Amino acid sequence: MVLAEVLIERSANALNRPFTYLYPFKDNLKVGVRVIVSFANKDVVGYVIKVKIDKRSKEEYEKESGFVLNSIKSVLDKAPILDDEMLNLAKEVANYYLSPLISVLQTMLPPSLKPRYSSLKAPKIHYEKYLAIVDESEEGLTAKQIELLRLIYKNGKVKKRDLKSPSVIKKLIELNRIREIDIEVPRLKIPEYKPDERKVLTSDQKKAINTILHSKNKISLVEGVTGSGKTEVYLTLSEEVIKKGRNVLMLVPEISLTSVMVSYYLRRFKGKVAILHSELTPAEKYDEYRRIARGEANIVVGARSAIFAPLKNIGLIILDEEHVESYKQDNIPTYHAREVAFMRAKRNDSMVILGSATPLLETRIRAMRGIYNHVVLPNRINKQPLPKTIIVDMLKGYNLCRDSHMFSKQLYEKIKDRLLKKEQIILLINRRGFSTSIVCRECGQAIKCPTCGISLTYHQNDNLLKCHHCGYVMQYPKTCPNCDSKYLSKTGFGTERIEKEIKKLFPQARTLRLDSDVGKVRNNISQVIEKFRNQDADILIGTQMIAKGHDFPNVTLVGVVLADIGLSLPSFRNTEKAFTLITQAIGRSGRDKKLGEAIIQTYMPSHYAIQLAAHQDYNAFFNTEMKIRKASQYPPYTYLISLIIKAKKEDLAQDIAYQIASDLTNKNYKDVKILGPSTPYIPYENSWHIREILIKYKKEDEIRNYIEKLRITLQNKPSVNILINVDPFDF
Ligand code: ADP
Ligand code: ZN
Ligand code: ZN
Repeated sequence: MVLAEVLIERSANALNRPFTYLYPFKDNLKVGVRVIVSFANKDVVGYVIKVKIDKRSKEEYEKESGFVLNSIKSVLDKAPILDDEMLNLAKEVANYYLSPLISVLQTMLPPSLKPRYSSLKAPKIHYEKYLAIVDESEEGLTAKQIELLRLIYKNGKVKKRDLKSPSVIKKLIELNRIREIDIEVPRLKIPEYKPDERKVLTSDQKKAINTILHSKNKISLVEGVTGSGKTEVYLTLSEEVIKKGRNVLMLVPEISLTSVMVSYYLRRFKGKVAILHSELTPAEKYDEYRRIARGEANIVVGARSAIFAPLKNIGLIILDEEHVESYKQDNIPTYHAREVAFMRAKRNDSMVILGSATPLLETRIRAMRGIYNHVVLPNRINKQPLPKTIIVDMLKGYNLCRDSHMFSKQLYEKIKDRLLKKEQIILLINRRGFSTSIVCRECGQAIKCPTCGISLTYHQNDNLLKCHHCGYVMQYPKTCPNCDSKYLSKTGFGTERIEKEIKKLFPQARTLRLDSDVGKVRNNISQVIEKFRNQDADILIGTQMIAKGHDFPNVTLVGVVLADIGLSLPSFRNTEKAFTLITQAIGRSGRDKKLGEAIIQTYMPSHYAIQLAAHQDYNAFFNTEMKIRKASQYPPYTYLISLIIKAKKEDLAQDIAYQIASDLTNKNYKDVKILGPSTPYIPYENSWHIREILIKYKKEDEIRNYIEKLRITLQNKPSVNILINVDPFDF
């Protein structure tokens, strides 16, 4: 009999082992197809990872194994939905990230192909009806019929919808002179652009490209200050690779940047660009995925998960803004697109480019040690100077603007000046919403999220309180939920509040806001960016979304409204993140002919991250921060794995976490340090209590084996859930 090993999805603890089913049909079963099987009395979609012949009969098998052998009910796919390369890649990712294979497969596939029950409602392929010639003879036809026949003959085939004479068409079909054919059309309408004007490469750009193309080392860090023309380097390298008949994978860290990058690629490479990111509808994703798999695209532009695009013969993978956190997925599989890029590059013998003005410390040190090529673009295009930056101490009362405590006199005056000159302004405030919290003036308590315990943010737009962690929403209460007092006050401010304040101070200014609230409506983000680029607004107010990548030539002033946000968060990465954010934001100013300026408002004017960001001095920051990482033993001086233990009961979470931590400590592995268990900043989630353990290690084997076993022991306990995060971005 034929047996199949099938991976299936089950909620909570995804099972990391296949189940065996009998294959009852005649035709060959292929690895990589989806099947319907019964699991726990429910029909579920599974994914076949192995097919094997067993000499025993069903009865013998059941007697020997002690299990009932169920049959596969039906096979969903004619051909495997993943090829060998992708299946092996999935195994490698699952292995490295200590994540269940099924979770990797689900991440790889577009929503409609995921091995899940709901995927049975997959979108249908979208066809358009065309007409084609069967027989070109005109004998016995009327003039009108001949006219149409000749038209179709001349064009090869014609879209049926484009013709206005249904009765003539019908007749010609009846006479068997023409026929209808179905042609698949992608639902995603890719915009058309005029080809771009060729730029003469600067000598820095030429040098960078030559180094990359002629180096034995396939991985390069392109470290270029903001506005140094990295995009042109990516485009030229892509052309070189495509000339050699190979394909390009271009990743950008988030949605707000995809549309811009897509337009650059479409201007240069016509018709061959596919797009993959989360703004697409499932149907559009499905079409793009299939188009790539059929080999009809030679460039894929997309966000994190596009690293799993079924593109073949890859010659170049680019991660633009490689420092951005969103390249790391924070639920299972907890992969980082850069690591997956290395895995794919090895399989394809492809180059990898990591680009940034502020690379992650881990990346920079590897480049310095020669593990990657280190390619530097030290100057802005046209040798424009970096923006002139002033740090304003907001603790000094005399610096504050008379009409608003959120703005300094300096920033106020500069905004006024730019509005007069018709130049554009970007204001960064890395917090969305109106006010950070609602505090009771009677009992002093802030209104908190019932599921995760952090302060709720007030959103004036819809007059609701929202949790920025879990999405919990509640009405604005009339009284304090704690003591019933009527005196509630709003403290702290976010993007909405700054926008309101600006409208009050400068009623004539046209403002736009960009944050993830704006992004809740599909395509809103790219519309806002397009509007600002077309100078339909004077001031763009936003979170980190506006800080990276964008190239708005008319922006000559960037204001960091409050630079301190994030600096006090408990993570080894917080200073690096703050430095990067401020440096990148300031880098949006003065990118074209006009000189740029920036103002940083802060309560910590002497903090090294703020001082060095003001000077765009990445090198000095790197050296300072590396010393701190070394002293405190954090990456890049050690590797990290975090274990996040969740349980329904707080005691249980504490007990299990404590057991694991002490067990690990007792093992006394060499060069391994265990921190915790600790209670995280956000202590619970959907009524699950959370404890965290951090493992610092230098050599991985023992630790990985331990965690592998731990996962198997825990996976059958429904009241406990463990999330293993290899190389957590923060801790
Ligand atoms: P980065 O990504 O390094 O911050 P960009 O790639 O956005 O910088 O380039 C900054 C600006 O310089 C863009 O407007 C781009 O069109 C322009 N630019 C890039 N290369 C050249 C060149 N060789 N000649 C003229 N302009 C260039
Ligand atoms: Zn109260
Ligand atoms: Zn919450």
